[in-house]
Amino acid sequence: MNKNETYEITIEDFTKDGEGVGHIEGMAVFVKDTVPGDVAVIKIIKLKKNYAYGRLMEVITPSRYRVEPVCDKARQCGGCIFQHVSYERQLEFKLKHVRDCLKRIGGIENADELITGICGMDEPYHYRNKAQFPVGRDKEGKVITGFYAGHSHNIIDTEKCFIQAKVNEEILACVRKYIEDYNITTYSEEEHKGLVRHVLTRVGFTTGEIMVCLVINGKKLPHSEVLVERLKGIEGMTSICLNVNTEKTNKILGNECITLWGEDYITDYLGDVKFRISPLSFYQVNPVQTEKLYGKALEYAGLTGSETVWDVYCGIGTISLFLAKKAKHVHGVEIVPEAIEDAELNSSINDITNTTFYVGKAEEVLPREYEKNGIHADVIVVDPPRKGCDIKALETIIKMEPKRIVYVSCDPATLARDVKWLSENGYELKCGEAYDQFCFSGHVETVVQLVNIGVKPDYTVRL
Ligand code: SAH
Repeated sequence: MNKNETYEITIEDFTKDGEGVGHIEGMAVFVKDTVPGDVAVIKIIKLKKNYAYGRLMEVITPSRYRVEPVCDKARQCGGCIFQHVSYERQLEFKLKHVRDCLKRIGGIENADELITGICGMDEPYHYRNKAQFPVGRDKEGKVITGFYAGHSHNIIDTEKCFIQAKVNEEILACVRKYIEDYNITTYSEEEHKGLVRHVLTRVGFTTGEIMVCLVINGKKLPHSEVLVERLKGIEGMTSICLNVNTEKTNKILGNECITLWGEDYITDYLGDVKFRISPLSFYQVNPVQTEKLYGKALEYAGLTGSETVWDVYCGIGTISLFLAKKAKHVHGVEIVPEAIEDAELNSSINDITNTTFYVGKAEEVLPREYEKNGIHADVIVVDPPRKGCDIKALETIIKMEPKRIVYVSCDPATLARDVKWLSENGYELKCGEAYDQFCFSGHVETVVQLVNIGVKPDYTVRL
């Protein structure tokens, strides 16, 4: 095999990241934008000792799972990776990935039975409630907004995105016109010059409230009153603000927000729990699927009202507040102090009084509260970041001997690693389900229930 030469290949499978993989001369070749079953012409773009990367040049015989992307920017844009794959096949890929990780890494032989299925969306489009569009200019000086190309910071001009809220089209058209009309400068990363960096939008899917926040490399936006006047005309507009980011950084948001008009937050609901969301707050981006996922976590928690529950890695307390309505008390632990402030605020606006939140590392707070302050747990929910749970946190969790552990995970590989450890330390994986929170991306969420096998589990407890 030679670099820059073209070959015919039959795509056999997906990699864990959703690239197609086939073989040429016995060597594995990874090809983005292909689907198992495709027969295609590819060009070798990178050749390593044991594997190679190819670029799709032409599909000769399409896989039966191949579909026409709804978005004409699909191949360039670094956002979606599965626009060319039928939704059913995406779900099949994600479910298999979860089950395979649990089998291979977790040693759970019957993972196919235990992980009962994947919950997809009826309508996998326009599901995101938050978007951050970089702003720039093309070679002719025309204002462009969109998304970055894969592995780069080149802006792909996108007027229409099929996974974002539809109202963003109107918002972006309005912001672009304002920038053109008043000749406002746009930010250039290389030169660290220019004013407007990003447009952040948030939409409360339940309330219909909308926030628009312009991230600027400065403190003042010229003629902002015109922008405000124009944006106010969009139905649902509740909050228009600026975020100041004058740093030379690829972090999108700075720490300071200036409200130009309206409130400095929007509100939204997950189930019947109300959340107040500011530009800097973390909030789940797919509220429809989050509600289903957390509903399942609650079911797996099996609460009767008398339990002390820990929500470890609690963020703004989304799961904690769901649980609090059915538990005696919920303790939440989170490393980011602002998230805990939000969690406390969200508790109080919902009149929830049976929660306590702790700022700190799970691996420090849990041992401290358990060993020094004797706080116990009937049920522990964990929702860690991609790297999974810290071993110290897991060690304390098993010492606390909760009857059930509910593990919400955004990375099947680390979930499987932690499930293996927990299985070796008195807990048995009883059931689980995968959730498609990020349709058209390669990500998958999973929730599983583990039961303390020293204690007789009570399966009659269901909501
Ligand atoms: N359930 C939460 C989101 C959890 S995401 C919600 O819905 O809001 C994982 C969270 O773990 C993040 O908020 C992150 O800040 C936090 N985190 C990361 N490392 C941590 C650690 N060592 N201890 C406690 N929290 C941590």
